[in-house]
Amino acid sequence: MVSTHQADDLNSFLAGVERRNPGEPEFLQAVQEVAMDIIPYIADKPIYKDLMILERMTEPDRIVTFRVVWEDDDGNVRVNRGFRVQQNNAIGPYKGGIRFHPTVNQSVLKFLAFEQVFKNSLTGLPMGGGKGGADFNPKGKSDREVMRFCQAFMTELSKHIGPDTDVPAGDIGVGAREVGYMFGQYKRLMNRFEGVLTGKALEFGGSRIRPEATGYGCVYMMEEMLAHHKESIEGRSCAVSGSGNVATYCAEKLIELGAKVITLSDSAGFIHDPSGITHDKLMWIMELKNKRRGRIEEYVREFGGEYFEGERPWNVPCELAFPCATQNEIDKSDAEKLIKNGCRAIAEGANMPTTPEAIKVIQGKKELLHSPSKAANAGGVAVSGLEMSQNSLRLQWSRDEVDDHLHKIIRGIHDQCVEFGTAADGHVDYFKGANVAGFNKVASAMIAYGVM
Ligand code: NDP
Repeated sequence: MVSTHQADDLNSFLAGVERRNPGEPEFLQAVQEVAMDIIPYIADKPIYKDLMILERMTEPDRIVTFRVVWEDDDGNVRVNRGFRVQQNNAIGPYKGGIRFHPTVNQSVLKFLAFEQVFKNSLTGLPMGGGKGGADFNPKGKSDREVMRFCQAFMTELSKHIGPDTDVPAGDIGVGAREVGYMFGQYKRLMNRFEGVLTGKALEFGGSRIRPEATGYGCVYMMEEMLAHHKESIEGRSCAVSGSGNVATYCAEKLIELGAKVITLSDSAGFIHDPSGITHDKLMWIMELKNKRRGRIEEYVREFGGEYFEGERPWNVPCELAFPCATQNEIDKSDAEKLIKNGCRAIAEGANMPTTPEAIKVIQGKKELLHSPSKAANAGGVAVSGLEMSQNSLRLQWSRDEVDDHLHKIIRGIHDQCVEFGTAADGHVDYFKGANVAGFNKVASAMIAYGVM
């Protein structure tokens, strides 16, 4: 229960953040979601207030913005804007993905970098938080154009990163192909072969299970939440959104565990296959999205089911929901539909996929378990952390070893959520648990360093 005094503290804190970051709604949304749990938590711990820890955590260490100039296949000069937000390195080198999407701007990357600080802390690995990207749209570009863009982007970014400074990875629009081009360019510029990026191919220092890790980790988090309530995934109907890296590997693990995946989507619409997306159908989708770079609607021509243009899958009755596409993809009315249709649990594969209004609706329905992205999608960065360890050791672990680590890390995250998020009536508030546990470790390190 938040007292009037704490509500005043929260409002004045958020007003300050808004004043200092005008026109950055996504960043403000991410800060608000965290502050709602942290301000009551630190109310009786004056050291955090005296040292302005939360204020310092919401101010990035630095933001680098740069011009990216490249040439398209017709010889036209093209100009994009690149960014790297180095948010906080209190517990390790900055770590977080790179996003290439036309919607990328400073607000989106600051929200992602801020979230990343808490997520990385939850993994228990020594990683700070950062995020980067560009307003470049890889859709419809040839391989050569993507290569030239990645090389131009890395030419500037290379001045600001390094294996002990800042270690980027993939995100929306940045997969194995883009990581390969960027790593190659870094190696050429610096003349050093070092673990400066994660998500690399196996042949040049990648980790087994890294491509799968975010999606698998999301399912492992769901398994943990259900097991805590003496339930399992097997036989449950699952709505998954997206059809990129996170969504497809989330679906793969669900199918392997005996669940029934009935939806997938892309930015144009979603498909509903009531008979269930099988492993073979999923392999076809991966080929469609990763090689042919086609649209999800093609699925119904191949396998049947229905395609819903311009819609999201949350109206389809399901027991488990996995938003794995992008931010704010579950709004208030989507949350109401999920509840009305009897959804039991949501695990967020995408970053901040649920709007604040939707979170409120879901929190009013205690039977609906809800894991925030900073807990449910931490598997990706966790295995990136393991990739960094393997690069330092100049070793490559087996699939089983990495999967075992991933399982343990997700179990550890779930335990922390339960420790810090369980109310007197036994209800687990996974948002509160993840925020407080993630905050504690970073805050302790910041206190140890003194005022800086
Ligand atoms: P991909 O680029 O591989 O896939 C993104 C998917 O989401 C595509 O199906 C895309 O559709 C869809 N999508 C993108 N933007 C929108 C939009 N505005 N509305 C509806 N659908 C959209 O990205 P990832 O799978 O890597 O990332 C998905 C989410 O997971 C992001 O929130 C990302 O930050 C998060 N995440 C990713 C991690 C990783 O390891 N990759 C780690 C942790 C979090 P289309 O094909 O039409 O573009």
